[in-house]
Amino acid sequence: MAGVSIQNVEKAFGGVRVIHGIDIEIADGAFVVLVGPSGCGKSTLLRIIAGLEDVTSGAIMIGDTEVNDMAPKDRDIAMVFQNYGLYPHMTVAQNMGFALKLAGVNKAEIAKRVGNAADILNLDALLDRFPRQLSGGQRQRVAMGRAIVRNPQVFLFDEPLSNLDAKLRVQMRAEIKQLHQRLKVTTVYVTHDQIEAMTMADVIVVMHDGVVKQAGSPLDLYDTPANLFVAGFIGSPA
Ligand code: ADP
Ligand code: MG
Repeated sequence: MAGVSIQNVEKAFGGVRVIHGIDIEIADGAFVVLVGPSGCGKSTLLRIIAGLEDVTSGAIMIGDTEVNDMAPKDRDIAMVFQNYGLYPHMTVAQNMGFALKLAGVNKAEIAKRVGNAADILNLDALLDRFPRQLSGGQRQRVAMGRAIVRNPQVFLFDEPLSNLDAKLRVQMRAEIKQLHQRLKVTTVYVTHDQIEAMTMADVIVVMHDGVVKQAGSPLDLYDTPANLFVAGFIGSPA
């Protein structure tokens, strides 16, 4: 497995800087939550790690490898999106195996990995269903299954639970944490929800307007917020 190192990363869109020199060290196997208000640059940073956006300056390392010039598919990363991105005309099993098929993995190996992921995610009974025949939570599990089958070094989640109702959100938080405890894959998880960050993170990174305001354990941030923004955002008395 591998950690992720974000080194003095800046990003501008058409001359407008939205990420201002961010440094974050993510330890191998850690569950790190990027949290901050809408528009602060969370998704952009995640997309930079995934290779879906290039950096304006700075570097991204995955393990010992600088990946700046590496295509997304070569980065050994799997990303789970808010809208799941499932293919409506494919079954659950086909959705989970599709990226492997594209990568030229043989049928027997695809079946093995899909079966293993289905087992972990409790999807065994749903493998022949289509996305429209699934609940929101089940769709979310399939999206995670698609990530797991690739055996990535790093999982990236961009607000994966924001389309779910409150009760299901709480349940899925626990499922994602259990998955992490089982697979120990380095995870970067983006949310704008403080409670989600506090309950899920090993390390929370609080962002605001394209900078990191503070990084630390949930307890650190709660007990000793570095500034009023963090105190207000995390909800502790300033
Ligand atoms: P968050 O995920 O924290 O809500 P984003 O990373 O999506 O924030 O956006 C950060 C800032 O970058 C916002 O001001 C947004 O409008 C801007 N932005 C994001 N993507 C693009 C893009 N492709 N072109 C221009 N501006 C963008
Ligand atoms: Mg976003």
